[in-house]
Amino acid sequence: MSSGATLSDAQLRDEYNPFLSMAKGFDQAADILGLDEGLREVLRQPERELKVAMPILMDDGTVKVFTGYRVQHNFLRGPCKGGIRFSPDVNLDEVRALSAWMTWKCSVVNLPFGGAKGGVICDPRELSQGELERLTRRYTVAIMDILGPDRDVPAPDMNTGEQTMAWIMDTYSMHVRRTTTAIVTGKPLALGGSRGRREATGRGVMIAANKALQLTGDRPEDTRVIVQGAGNVGGVAALLMHREGYKVTSISDMYGAIHNETGLDMPAVMAWMRDHGRLTGFPDAAEVSHSDQLELDCDLLIPAATENQITSLNADRIKAKLIVEGANGPTTAIASSMLHDRGVVIVPDILANAGGVTVSYFEWVQDRMGYFWTEEIVNSRLEQIMIDAFNEVVKTAEEHKVSLRTAAYILSIDRVASVYRLRGIFA
Ligand code: GLU
Repeated sequence: MSSGATLSDAQLRDEYNPFLSMAKGFDQAADILGLDEGLREVLRQPERELKVAMPILMDDGTVKVFTGYRVQHNFLRGPCKGGIRFSPDVNLDEVRALSAWMTWKCSVVNLPFGGAKGGVICDPRELSQGELERLTRRYTVAIMDILGPDRDVPAPDMNTGEQTMAWIMDTYSMHVRRTTTAIVTGKPLALGGSRGRREATGRGVMIAANKALQLTGDRPEDTRVIVQGAGNVGGVAALLMHREGYKVTSISDMYGAIHNETGLDMPAVMAWMRDHGRLTGFPDAAEVSHSDQLELDCDLLIPAATENQITSLNADRIKAKLIVEGANGPTTAIASSMLHDRGVVIVPDILANAGGVTVSYFEWVQDRMGYFWTEEIVNSRLEQIMIDAFNEVVKTAEEHKVSLRTAAYILSIDRVASVYRLRGIFA
């Protein structure tokens, strides 16, 4: 496989386009499945894309227009499901890719959902709480014609959280004139949220890591872990894995990374971050740059920040033998093949970070039943689903002699395709 040094600017641009990355993974699996051309066409592209312009009254009295998207990739297996992100980097190709990954993710863990994703181009750090609330409510109204507990159910993603979901739930409910808790997941507990939802993605990442170690016969105590990202995915995974006995040697946030080869005291690190708003400055660790962090010596790397972190430009220097993808699309398609060729095992995003949407599914079920489960029940059902999905992906990989990523795509595309064949084309 060619290395980054030999790629032209145009090739690098393509490598960094998440939709093309997704399409590459999809095509590989579709080839192996022998999927016919028509079905490929149907499943590769999103069913619906909505772009909205939202005028917002800013605190200083001016009006600013923000752009938002909601892309519904596929609703063959059930209502669309997927998060909403607020970020200056949001663009249509990214939202498209993320919506498709949600379809495949829900299918890998066999949830009765299709996939969607939303995004608003904004820098939440530059917005006041009032401006954020007005933007969230306006966005909800702008896309609510295509939302609904049986149509499309949003959730948190990058820079959105329980408060955002509470505003969406309230805005939607006020418009339909009844409290509709099942319209979003990842809500506060008091508004119909689920126990265990906040930790679910990080917990799922840990379960995936535990399963991956079983394949190699390694023990958590002997496993040095680098975590990129200290938010709802990376921070939670690092804490839970520290508790499980893993040696977390490095973790990063948006400001930088910290490193201690003998293992970080994760509860102390997270307490430091809570108090200081950043990881750097933590007394018991050295500071390293974002790019150096990924190349540190370690056994397990958990990219849990954003897309395109492991690329043709740094894949050769990654030392981890195992990568568990907490973020969506952190490894480009080219880097993925480079690492696979070197024998590095990658537990792909659509499997590794599926814990979040799995507990979102539990939340939606609980809201519709009006009956709420204990945290023990949520966690044990989550564990069972993750373990079953992991085993199925490994079995598929062995059957077809492919990477876990290609196997996850094969499994999930096959499930969606068979539903499509059963339902037939409506005309
Ligand atoms: N945003 C999360 C993801 O990428 C969760 C989606 C959901 O719970 O619907 O999987």
